[in-house]
Amino acid sequence: WPRRQLDTALMDAASEAGAETIYDTEVLPVIDGEGRCVGVETPNGRWTSDLVVLAAGAQGKAARILGAERDLNEPYGLAIRTYAETPRHDETHIEACLTLRDENNVAVPGYGWLFPAGDGTANIGCGALSTMKGFKSLNLNKLCDAYHKQMLESWDLGPYLERPRAWRLPMSAQKRHGPGWVAVGDAAGLINPMNGEGIDYGLETGMLIADLFNSDPGTAAATYDRKVGERFDGFLRTGRRFSFLIGHQAILRGGLRLAVGTETIARITLQVMGNLIDSDTPGAAGRVMSIGDKLLAAVDPLLRRTRAAT
Ligand SMILES: Cc1cc2nc3c(=O)[nH]c(=O)nc-3n(C[C@H](O)[C@H](O)[C@H](O)COP(=O)(O)OP(=O)(O)OC[C@H]3O[C@@H](n4cnc5c(N)ncnc54)[C@H](O)[C@@H]3O)c2cc1C
Repeated sequence: WPRRQLDTALMDAASEAGAETIYDTEVLPVIDGEGRCVGVETPNGRWTSDLVVLAAGAQGKAARILGAERDLNEPYGLAIRTYAETPRHDETHIEACLTLRDENNVAVPGYGWLFPAGDGTANIGCGALSTMKGFKSLNLNKLCDAYHKQMLESWDLGPYLERPRAWRLPMSAQKRHGPGWVAVGDAAGLINPMNGEGIDYGLETGMLIADLFNSDPGTAAATYDRKVGERFDGFLRTGRRFSFLIGHQAILRGGLRLAVGTETIARITLQVMGNLIDSDTPGAAGRVMSIGDKLLAAVDPLLRRTRAAT
């Protein structure tokens, strides 16, 4: 599904379950004298509640109030997306380009994508990690234009249907729960550093806190934090370490050649990058992940000391 269709379906499901949606309204947490989040403040009034769920995406004002900003020592990403018409809109495969280069010919740790949307268009965009040299001056619009040009012929692409829009991809949060509140999805820094995906983490963490709150409101926030940690922290930590590694030009170039050298290795790479390893039947991808995990943990201080980004 294109993203707008998914979002509409989620909103419809919430409405059917009794949720009331108020659009175009800034919502900020209200903290009482003891540091507990007791509700939210909006220009239209204040709501009190036993639990506030911060689902505000990349950390901003609401996260600042709760002390849930991103960890400045950890990497993050930026991504840009738009749509274009293509006769290949109903293909079953996506296209990904792992060899993006910026306008200064620096290899970009990230990728360009074309996702056929099935409605006459494809979602086209690209993302990059903050660990590359010169990240602060990276021009995502130019990167997207260059990728669009590169794919023009093979996908018979039309011009952009809307102005490309860029967002941050948060990959850490200083906190994801506190008295009276939890953070879910991007607000909790739950983006896979290896491929920039975050929709599944947003859905999973939203479902998790709903179940926990329904079964025991008193312990829900703390249990949520523990369970999210058990499910995701190990993999995401490894992903962040990996992103420091591929911030280095030479490692990125050499690593890519190795990672997609044969079809079998490419499959393993995709399984590892997508966090698609089944813990009951880990197979070769599970072994690669386990070794990579240990190696990256051992060299973590070195990775941080020698990071390519300044
Ligand atoms: C270009 C791009 C492409 C991507 N592609 C993929 C992909 O292919 N697959 C994938 O899994 N992930 C992808 N992601 C990541 C994915 O979009 C996010 O992980 C996901 O949207 C997170 O959902 P969320 O609900 O946590 O946050 P968001 O989707 O960011 O939603 C948060 C909402 O809260 C609103 N908000 C913020 N502050 C306030 C406030 N104070 N009051 C009221 N509202 C507020 C924001 O305006 C926003 O509408 C992509 C991201 C980008 C930028």
